[in-house]
Amino acid sequence: MESGTDMVAIYQEPIDAEAVKARARELGIDLVGIADGQAMDAHPPDPDDPRRPMDISDYDADRVVVLGKRYTAGTTRLTRWDERHKYYNDELTLTALEEASLELVLWLEDRGYPALIVPPTHVDPMRHDGGTAGPIGPLLSLDHAAVEAGLGTLGLNGQLITPEFGPRVLLTAVLTSAPLAADAPMTQSLCLGPACGRCLLTCPADAVRHWDRDWAACERLRSPHGFADLAEHIGRIIDEPDPLRKKAMLRSKAQFDLWQSILRGSGVVTGCRRCQDVCPVGADYPALQDALEEIPEATADKVQRLAEMVRAEADGARPEAHARQQRWIGSPPAAGPED
Ligand code: SF4
Ligand code: SF4
Repeated sequence: MESGTDMVAIYQEPIDAEAVKARARELGIDLVGIADGQAMDAHPPDPDDPRRPMDISDYDADRVVVLGKRYTAGTTRLTRWDERHKYYNDELTLTALEEASLELVLWLEDRGYPALIVPPTHVDPMRHDGGTAGPIGPLLSLDHAAVEAGLGTLGLNGQLITPEFGPRVLLTAVLTSAPLAADAPMTQSLCLGPACGRCLLTCPADAVRHWDRDWAACERLRSPHGFADLAEHIGRIIDEPDPLRKKAMLRSKAQFDLWQSILRGSGVVTGCRRCQDVCPVGADYPALQDALEEIPEATADKVQRLAEMVRAEADGARPEAHARQQRWIGSPPAAGPED
């Protein structure tokens, strides 16, 4: 009987990037781009914590096929950040994206090219340090991979922005060494910069910085019923001295939210996305605008901070975070609407 390696050597059909993209679109993928795995190996977004294709596979990571599926417009038009219905719908979109990613892997493997998925939900448990502060990211930064694959650029708060859907997309990646032409990254920033600043104005955690984000603060809302919430909830039950109150906590809304989240991932892998919703970039935005134009979370303090950022940039002073992420942010942002 042939080994898997022999099978691969014998049955490799000629394929190209266009065939892979066409198959992805047939599977319901909205955006697809192909990044050069070696370029990603050479440019990890955080050199102190490199997460590179080469760390995942020695053999099957020459190319990173980045797949994007748009959020449904109806859920984007729900304006509360903590809307469970929205979490649940987003989780269904993610499920569809993950299933399409698996179908693409099987399609590649049927043609002789081993492949594997990097989903946004899988984190390396070896990186868990016993604490609950801060996010543990997936094995690759999918937003950075999407930029490398030519799908968009990073915005003021580090979110991927695409011409088609702005930041309103979920992402996975498929690693393969199939002989596919890589796409060229965009060089011009799509973000309108602090002159826009709508992501900062809306953020309920006030986590948006000048070309940066307080990722730990964001995580508590982006994953409101994630590991930190679970650990704290169980801790509160353990610490409660009154047996009746302890029992009531088992039937509380907090426990119900956690139960539902564990059941489907809604509120764990999906949560706050207000910064994605209100971003005015994207061909889809005009159809969303009437529900999203107003930003009730804006405060005078946030407006003032943005004005300071605009002034600093006019003086040529961009923060160090911008220099660190310049490769993915692109060349200086286009002028804001009122400039
Ligand atoms: S996901 Fe929510 S909490 Fe995180 S930066 Fe965006 S608006 Fe803020
Ligand atoms: S909301 Fe404005 S500032 Fe924020 S990422 Fe989008 S374009 Fe950039």
